[in-house]
Amino acid sequence: MLKLTDLRGSRRDPRGILPRAQLDVSEAVERIRPVVEAVHQRGFAAIQEATTRFDGVELTRLRVPVEAIAAAGEALEPEIREALLEVITRTRKVHRDQRRPDVTTQVVDGGTVTERWLPVQRVGLYVPGGLAVYPSTVVMNVVPAQEAGVDALVVASPPQKENGGLPDARVLAACALLGVDEVYAVGGAQAIAMLGYGSDGVDEGDRCEPVDVITGPGNIWVTAAKRLLQGTVGIDAEAGPTEIAILADETADPRHVAADLISQAEHDPLAASVLVTDSESLVAGVESELTRMVAATKHSQRVHTSLTGAQSGVVLVDDLEQGLAVVDAYAAEHLEIQTRDARQWAMRVRNAGAIFVGAWSPVSLGDYAAGSNHVLPTAGCARHSSGLSVQSFLRGIHVVEYDEAALSDVAKHVVTLANAEDLPAHGEAVKARFDR
Ligand code: NAD
Repeated sequence: MLKLTDLRGSRRDPRGILPRAQLDVSEAVERIRPVVEAVHQRGFAAIQEATTRFDGVELTRLRVPVEAIAAAGEALEPEIREALLEVITRTRKVHRDQRRPDVTTQVVDGGTVTERWLPVQRVGLYVPGGLAVYPSTVVMNVVPAQEAGVDALVVASPPQKENGGLPDARVLAACALLGVDEVYAVGGAQAIAMLGYGSDGVDEGDRCEPVDVITGPGNIWVTAAKRLLQGTVGIDAEAGPTEIAILADETADPRHVAADLISQAEHDPLAASVLVTDSESLVAGVESELTRMVAATKHSQRVHTSLTGAQSGVVLVDDLEQGLAVVDAYAAEHLEIQTRDARQWAMRVRNAGAIFVGAWSPVSLGDYAAGSNHVLPTAGCARHSSGLSVQSFLRGIHVVEYDEAALSDVAKHVVTLANAEDLPAHGEAVKARFDR
């Protein structure tokens, strides 16, 4: 089922030959640019048009009434409430520890630089809701924003026909559990544009004011819109169609490997599942498990499309050293290490959104209940970006405070460098303080 790339005996840089999606974000940007521009120019009317076209819902207002959020919270099934509360507790525990303290450096006597971490004021949190609905993503977005101390949290999630054009009831319930009451029934690129530019609504109470930062995962269209809006607002990272890479040797259990590949393939036909191994017998075992398990899984067609797409496959390597080079080049959103001495191999990984070590840490655990964040960079962005965290909602501001003696001590160097850059007025600004 999985396409095979055999890198054994090859010294080539694996980057160009690894499985990757045929539709990439830059191509998707061009397709959704008109939607984003229309929302910028025409606000509510353009959001309505896009929602009719892409969600099949006639939108009558943007904002979800607060009573509907509260009612969803009250109607939530007890078992799901219990699970969400446990996930909130674990996620909060991890994210509370991420808050960086302000740091003051005494550079010289009388001269300090403090890095002060301040939360942004208003954030837009995207919660997907196309092929699946994601109350867990409400937790993953909201908890770090709350722990960062953000004042205004705004959630946007696609309207669902089955819920009368409101976002999914469990998504609303998760908002209620976390105390979020500004929720918009808008999805896709139009939601990202609405959050970034703001939009009028049917009345004053239905307006969406622009946010400072947009976070959250989504499909390729959501990811493309985030790329377009970057600069107008901050974005966390490009957290698009899910990816799993598994670095495994002959000690891995083929049933676990197959189950984990399928678990991420069920998100999206564009999701990527990649096995990197030095064991032909493992490949044979995984293939046989996949044949059986894919036929039996609920979203069989979607999983099949994803596993047989250009973005998925098996990469055969000579040994785990080469495997490590391959997974580093791939920079997966999720990387599982199912090898002998898994922790040692995990310590050496350079590029991954999150790493899952050993047989008892599947990606599904991280998707829900490890305490880690499940909003993670995709399509190689793990080379330069991090997953969502408290830090995503903070800005570090340098606060500089020197006294007269400390400035006087360094003045000649400032003047020298200012002159060297042909910016003498910079030096004059320092000298003016000492010309009496
Ligand atoms: P979604 O909310 O991301 O996308 C649904 C929206 O896409 C709809 O509201 C619709 O407006 C828009 N849309 C649909 N077809 C379109 C088209 N042809 N052109 C323009 N817009 C269109 O929900 P989804 O589709 O279920 O996707 C969720 C995605 O999030 C999956 O790809 C999943 O793998 C990903 N995900 C990623 C992470 C991560 O951290 N990287 C985490 C969770 C989920």
